[in-house]
Amino acid sequence: MVIDPGDDIDEILAIVARHKLRVTAIIVTHSHIDHIGGAKKMKAATGAPVYLNENDLELYKHLGEQALMIGVADPEKTEIDLSPKDGDTIRAGRIEATVIHTPGHTPGSICLLVPQFSDRDGVESLEPPTLIAGDTLFRGSIGRTDLRGGSTRTILKSIKDKLLPLDDAVIVIPGHGEETTIGYERVHNPFLQLN
Ligand SMILES: [Zn+2]
Repeated sequence: MVIDPGDDIDEILAIVARHKLRVTAIIVTHSHIDHIGGAKKMKAATGAPVYLNENDLELYKHLGEQALMIGVADPEKTEIDLSPKDGDTIRAGRIEATVIHTPGHTPGSICLLVPQFSDRDGVESLEPPTLIAGDTLFRGSIGRTDLRGGSTRTILKSIKDKLLPLDDAVIVIPGHGEETTIGYERVHNPFLQLN
């Protein structure tokens, strides 16, 4: 499962080859250029389907605006194969990730809750799951909401209704910056302390 191939596709493919993996899903947490810019190249190289929530298709259509804003070439667009919806599960090997629709940073933003296995002395156990958070939740911050389709009220509602109910031990891997946990953000994230 490749999540958010913004760029550096050759680097991702080298990792895939080194571990002798086969990519079966390309999942885009939201349609910002640094998360989706390389999706076409990744799909061409692997043949795997591209997942993007349907509420971000409009944003994808206008990706050229984002390219212009940051002064890069408008990347070639890929075909979107599937729209992951809240509660859907996406399987890759033994892993079954659950989709959580968390609009606000963009209308179609999703997070993925991925169970973690560990195999100690031949005994398999389930570790705290990992939340792949896209640009919805960061360590000590939340995603910006001043771009097309963003809404501060909506992102706060998404985090409070869909992410904070998760267990404190859940590890959060944001789309940018350091990883964190739900428990840490519940206590320390200044955006989540009001009321
Ligand atoms: Zn973003």
